[in-house]
Amino acid sequence: MTVGEVRSALDLSRAGREMSALVGELYPICRSITGDGVRETLRRVAAHADLKLHEVPSGTPVFDWTVPREWNIRDAYVKNARGERVIDFKASSLHVVSYSTPVKTRLSLTELKQHVFTLPDHPEWIPYRTSYYRESWGFCASHRLMEGLEDGEYEVCVDSSLAPGSLSYGESYLRGATEDEVLISCHVCHPSLANDNLSGIAVAAFLAGLLAKASLRYSYRLLFIPGTIGSITWLATNEAAVPRIRHGLVLACVGDGGEPTYKKSRRGDAEIDRAVRLTLKERAGGHRIEDFTPYGYDERQFCSPGFDLPVGCLMRTPHGRFPEYHTSGDNLELVRPEALADSLGTCLAVLDVLESNRVYVNQSPKGEPQLGKRGLYGPVGGLASAGRDEVTMLWVLNLSDGRHSLLDIAERSGCSFGAVKTAAGALEGAGLLREA
Ligand code: ZN
Repeated sequence: MTVGEVRSALDLSRAGREMSALVGELYPICRSITGDGVRETLRRVAAHADLKLHEVPSGTPVFDWTVPREWNIRDAYVKNARGERVIDFKASSLHVVSYSTPVKTRLSLTELKQHVFTLPDHPEWIPYRTSYYRESWGFCASHRLMEGLEDGEYEVCVDSSLAPGSLSYGESYLRGATEDEVLISCHVCHPSLANDNLSGIAVAAFLAGLLAKASLRYSYRLLFIPGTIGSITWLATNEAAVPRIRHGLVLACVGDGGEPTYKKSRRGDAEIDRAVRLTLKERAGGHRIEDFTPYGYDERQFCSPGFDLPVGCLMRTPHGRFPEYHTSGDNLELVRPEALADSLGTCLAVLDVLESNRVYVNQSPKGEPQLGKRGLYGPVGGLASAGRDEVTMLWVLNLSDGRHSLLDIAERSGCSFGAVKTAAGALEGAGLLREA
């Protein structure tokens, strides 16, 4: 089966419900850039994709960075004078600032407030905060909750550890007919946030499972990595594999109800940029295409000038542009099965373009070849205009001069990529085209 056939055979709405279930299963786990939460997440993803777990020791130099110490957390709370947990890590993993150092102390309310982040503009939501590269501890809570706390002494406990260990990431490598690779990556470092990290993980996991059923032209490498430090670590420890990457996509925030957004690679006109643009143009409904910026997800690292890889980023509503971003509002209700399904279907359509894109040479280029005698032309003559299939064949024959790919032909003719691919197949079958 080709990727296109896998896509046609897929029950997308069922896949949407299954991806949504995976998001729900992973949601409670406390992830960070290192630690057991990432390992637990990867173990669960491995039920859907053939995943290899890698561990890179703390202290490993990776370009201008160093793999940090590993952070793990067992419990954290703030108790009031009656011994009640007013802030409880076990109720939400967002309650603790990620990478908080261990602490056990008693504080006044005023002192406690110095260590608690809230969102006064969204008083019901818990913010998401991190302190990866500066040793400190802190809590996050809803503004409403903090407003309601009475004066008095509070018991504060963060039962965490920050110690030499490793950075964990997952990799699914699918061998295709060539060693040229398509790279797909998603971040696995956010705690209980659904759209920002879990949606990308679910779509990438299902993509890996589906691609494993296809006979592939390209080899595929799907990375489940902590943001920033994970991609930098992968690039630094796999530099020999980098030149094989021909196309790539970062998947992030692919589960909300917004329309798809594609952020182009730094190159801006790479084949992946054009394949996504064409796919989104042919898809029903709106979409946005944006230029590369050096801020965002791991495309920042893949598109750093020392690599400048053709890697774009597929999202729905981009980070920072939905109010729930990096808050407890980014919960299971924000992620919709139909949006996950649409994102998965879009990825498969894009990969089908990459897999099928070829350059052909017309074997009968002097004048139009006679299609009728080969059974390729409609039987009725004299119509005011040629049928759509005939027009598509004429475009493919005309532009197949060894310099135009099927993607070029679809872009220039306005014919759908699927129609161009089908026409090329028919013409090749009739001996009129040969791959360049
Ligand atoms: Zn984020």
